[in-house]
Amino acid sequence: MKVPYNYLPMQFADVERIISEWRQLISTTEFTLGPFVERFEKQFSEYLGVKHCISTNTGTDALILALKSVGIGNGDEVITVTNTFYATVGAIVATGATPVFVDSDDRFQIDVDKIIPAVTNRTKAVIPVHWAGASPDLDALSTICSEHNIYLIEDACMGIGTSVSGKPAGTYSSVSGFSLHPLKSLHVMGDGGMTATNDDDLARWLKTYRNHGMVDRNHITMWGINNRLQPLQAVVASIELESIDKTIRKRHKNAKILDSGLSDLSDRIFLPERKNSNVENYSLYMGLFQERDLLRAYLEHFDIETKVHYPIPLHLQAAASNLPYSKGDFPNSEKQAEELLTLPVHQYLEEEHLHYMINKIHDFYD
Ligand SMILES: *Cc1c(COP(=O)(O)O)cnc(C)c1O
Repeated sequence: MKVPYNYLPMQFADVERIISEWRQLISTTEFTLGPFVERFEKQFSEYLGVKHCISTNTGTDALILALKSVGIGNGDEVITVTNTFYATVGAIVATGATPVFVDSDDRFQIDVDKIIPAVTNRTKAVIPVHWAGASPDLDALSTICSEHNIYLIEDACMGIGTSVSGKPAGTYSSVSGFSLHPLKSLHVMGDGGMTATNDDDLARWLKTYRNHGMVDRNHITMWGINNRLQPLQAVVASIELESIDKTIRKRHKNAKILDSGLSDLSDRIFLPERKNSNVENYSLYMGLFQERDLLRAYLEHFDIETKVHYPIPLHLQAAASNLPYSKGDFPNSEKQAEELLTLPVHQYLEEEHLHYMINKIHDFYD
């Protein structure tokens, strides 16, 4: 039996609906912004329950624009984790600000106890990441940020469909960023991103900056850039949004099967706590697995595809050599980088796939 990690071939086995909506779009020739992009932005803001959603080219751009919208740039410090995708930190650096790392906790989320010691008089924001489609302790983060007068900007790139106490990921912040990349819970068949905010002024800034600084065809109020989502892609996102709840329910069901099937291996496998107050979207089903690399090779031999997110924490990347960090600085993230394994959990897997995987993992440790 094959347990594939990639679900895109199954997701796009039937594309008739997308193509027929593309025909409608093509007949309107509304190829930049326009009604299809606006429709999706409205649908997404209703889905999140926020006032404004402004789409962008990529999730990375959504984070860059979010940071810039609150005025972050040269000379500022932004606190984030070292166990995230490159783009969280790339976005900070792209604004001219300096990333300041803190360690992760046992749920692979930002360790909120490490934040206050990292705050300096140059700290302007904290970017917590909804890593793996789970969430950090956002209530604690909100309190810390408001007490220290710094912005909370969620990297909700992996967090579409994730929530904490009923509040969706990306809605705790002044402004947040989402990714619509093909490996995220809602995507546009290519690159895409979204910002979300309840603040009218930030929304106006984001909308204007994203579109050359234009207020109308003949007037600009600032030097902006072109960072627009493509209408062809907005059409895909609108269609996908209809089934995202169903997709996440299936991922939940699958994750529960894995959780219980692996629970008797707790001396070998560490699974993060699942908080009752949180809904995870299971973008990634991650755990710490002893002898990770051997296990991975063993599973691959039985046609079970797994991933590692990621084997090198960001402070140990060559790109970080100008930052004042070295091995040993973030023990939790470093240990996780050595032992983390991501198992397939996607919505096209059935119980037989999951039990096959669970059995093979047991065989390996036996
Ligand atoms: C995917 C991702 C990004 C970047 O999004 P892109 O759309 O690929 O630019 C940023 N942060 C995290 C945590 C991500 O998972």
